[in-house]
Amino acid sequence: MVKKKVAIVGGGLAGSEAAWQLGRMGIPTNLYEMRPNKNTPAHKTSLLAELVCSNSFRSDDDMNNAVGQLHWEMRVADGLIISQGDISRIPAGSAMAVDRMQFSSRITDLIKNNSSISLIQKEITDLKQLKEDHVIIASGPLTSNNLAQSLIELTGSKNLYFYDAIAPTVYADSIDYESTWFQSRYDKGETIEEREAYLNCPMTKDEYYEFVSKICKSNKADFNNWEKDVPFFSGCLPIEVMASRGKDTLRFGPMKPIGLTNPKNEIKPYAVVQLRKENKEATLYNIVGFQTKIKHSRQAEILRSICGLQDARFARLGGIHKNTFLNSPDILDHYFQLKSYPKVSLAGQITGVEGYVESAAIGLLVGRMVGAKILGKEVVLPPPNTALGALAHHLITQNDNFQPMNINFGLFKSTIDNLKGKKNRRERYSTYTSIAKSSFQSWLKTVSFF
Ligand SMILES: Cc1cc2nc3c(=O)[nH]c(=O)nc-3n(C[C@H](O)[C@H](O)[C@H](O)COP(=O)(O)OP(=O)(O)OC[C@H]3O[C@@H](n4cnc5c(N)ncnc54)[C@H](O)[C@@H]3O)c2cc1C
Repeated sequence: MVKKKVAIVGGGLAGSEAAWQLGRMGIPTNLYEMRPNKNTPAHKTSLLAELVCSNSFRSDDDMNNAVGQLHWEMRVADGLIISQGDISRIPAGSAMAVDRMQFSSRITDLIKNNSSISLIQKEITDLKQLKEDHVIIASGPLTSNNLAQSLIELTGSKNLYFYDAIAPTVYADSIDYESTWFQSRYDKGETIEEREAYLNCPMTKDEYYEFVSKICKSNKADFNNWEKDVPFFSGCLPIEVMASRGKDTLRFGPMKPIGLTNPKNEIKPYAVVQLRKENKEATLYNIVGFQTKIKHSRQAEILRSICGLQDARFARLGGIHKNTFLNSPDILDHYFQLKSYPKVSLAGQITGVEGYVESAAIGLLVGRMVGAKILGKEVVLPPPNTALGALAHHLITQNDNFQPMNINFGLFKSTIDNLKGKKNRRERYSTYTSIAKSSFQSWLKTVSFF
């Protein structure tokens, strides 16, 4: 076992992943997690790597989808989060969804039983109090105020904000299955379970416009004056914001009816609300893409006007939370260390990535980079033609309007030559992902020290 020790602040997706990667290199870590002693506004358990909203890791298509390619890279790099996601998987068509309790419980057990990781349940309020040889901050979008203040002092950076919203969850035994049906869009999936991964609640044209009008008239939870100019993350807009942009916006967004036909009457709906299982036992369902900040009393009333949900009981109603991130291109060097204080690295969503998968991926990368530094090895970032490399380069490239980002092909840097003549989108995407695969394998050899 190596003598030098790393402190990791935050036992979320990025922190758990980084601790695991360091453990594989024989480097001991103290993993500081403030829950359950101090909670965040969104976490509900004391488990590590808790998923605060949806249970989806999004598309698992590693040929045609950038997030699917990132899954692939995390699998070949032996990522903890992706491997436990795979074990806890539940059917979700072409998406990768997990049983959230099984997922986080498995990670908690693995970390607690890992002899190179010491889990310490306390809030870190001042970074200078940490005496370990290196520090990784992975305290996430809901970083406690004291720690955020300490980071601002250390970096001289303003912290930045945006909003993330949570979608409601329904108890399965309160849903009406007579008026709804199970079907994945275009019947996609290899097994019956995958082809029937979504429960569809149909709407006629009149019902849909009536529904949109109710949403537009609803009372939203109030923002403080100083919060009013904070933007929403564009990939996770609340339904009331979408509805206010036009009466058909929802029908082209989370309520799109394409690829779905009710087999009970062969009617194609004008719009649908889709529900997806939250756990393997199917006792809970998540309303897909229905993040909202409509006030709770009114929200329940509006949701119960959806066909099939008239008697719904809610395990959780939708809500909204402010996310913190830092201006990474200004404050981080090429090793994800603070330029002003290289003993500290950042990982996870606080670096300005958005999403479970992206946060865990940056945790994996930073765990490996810090490990390499402690072992005295030279490493470079993965090339920007890989998914992980594209994301990492985005975070350290100067940008006047730096904003949180999901992985997407727009960030990939493949040479123009490789894409010449590939007019078709699928052909371009599969070119990106095949270049990424071979490039990532070569990079991985340079950071595998076990
Ligand atoms: C309301 C909301 C909804 C979201 N919905 C989705 C979604 O549906 N899909 C998706 O892909 N992403 C979603 N996200 C983004 C998602 O939270 C993050 O992508 C992911 O959890 C971030 O991983 P992380 O490891 O960086 O942070 P986290 O997983 O949040 O982990 C950070 C950990 O640090 C701990 N901590 C904070 N401060 C301290 C401190 N001072 N000392 C010790 N411990 C501390 C926290 O308790 C937490 O356990 C959502 C985020 C929010 C806030």
